[in-house]
Amino acid sequence: MSANAQDATVAGAMLRSGLAPADARVLMRAVLNVDDAFLVAHPEHVLDAAQLARFRAMAVRRREGEPVAYLTGEREFYSLNFRISPAVLIPRPETELLVEAALARLPEDGSSRVLDLATGSGCIAIVLARHRPRAQITATDISAEALALARDNAAAHRARIEFIQSDWFASLAARRFDVIVSNPPYVALADPHLSEGDVRFEPRQALVAGPKGLDAIETLVEHARDHLAAGGWLLFEHGYDQGVCAQAMLGAAGYEQCFTLRDLAGQPRVSGGLTPSRHHL
Ligand code: GLN
Repeated sequence: MSANAQDATVAGAMLRSGLAPADARVLMRAVLNVDDAFLVAHPEHVLDAAQLARFRAMAVRRREGEPVAYLTGEREFYSLNFRISPAVLIPRPETELLVEAALARLPEDGSSRVLDLATGSGCIAIVLARHRPRAQITATDISAEALALARDNAAAHRARIEFIQSDWFASLAARRFDVIVSNPPYVALADPHLSEGDVRFEPRQALVAGPKGLDAIETLVEHARDHLAAGGWLLFEHGYDQGVCAQAMLGAAGYEQCFTLRDLAGQPRVSGGLTPSRHHL
């Protein structure tokens, strides 16, 4: 095979892409709509001209830093595949901890009312809906674009979810829930990691929350009380250095049984608290 012809094979195109092998594999899988086993079994498979052009264009964008998930338009979370676009945060493994904290507080056969604030791609709400089919799940986002994507994801996974466009609690009137979850923005305005890696391409609105990254968490802690049923839980994700602060805020606002969980990297990542059963906080 000539060098040019080799460029059009799976192995050749991946090798010449200049990408890390793991990235090249994800893009090639997306272009050919195949799994890893196919790539391993058929390194000599020849791409047609359109596939090769698409792979090369994606490789250029990846080399310029665009996240793989935005190039392929999908990412797995809690063993489900989600459509992703630059209008939403790319689901992260540490957020699975928040899902687990919520599942632990949702009875398997009960019809709890659950609220997911700032749902983005909808991944948290949809996983909860799949695991707790009798729960009544409401999900909000301020972004119409994010909500449209979350609706598509919910339809693809046949998850029954009520979607509401809302700036935090603004459009929820006096409604109350048994569990409120959120992966809010929690990065500080001047955090240097905003100019590194995938984060550069993600929506600022989903990442940044004021000078210390605590503005959204403050809103959650303060207003969730008015939207939780007696004995209801507020659970949220936060930065690795915000655990102590999150607990202090929950405690000061009158939540009980406050806790913080560590992610797989050992960082404090999810905190929560319970509204007292005698409700007047
Ligand atoms: N964990 C993300 C990051 O540090 C931030 C996600 C968020 O703000 N919810 O990049």
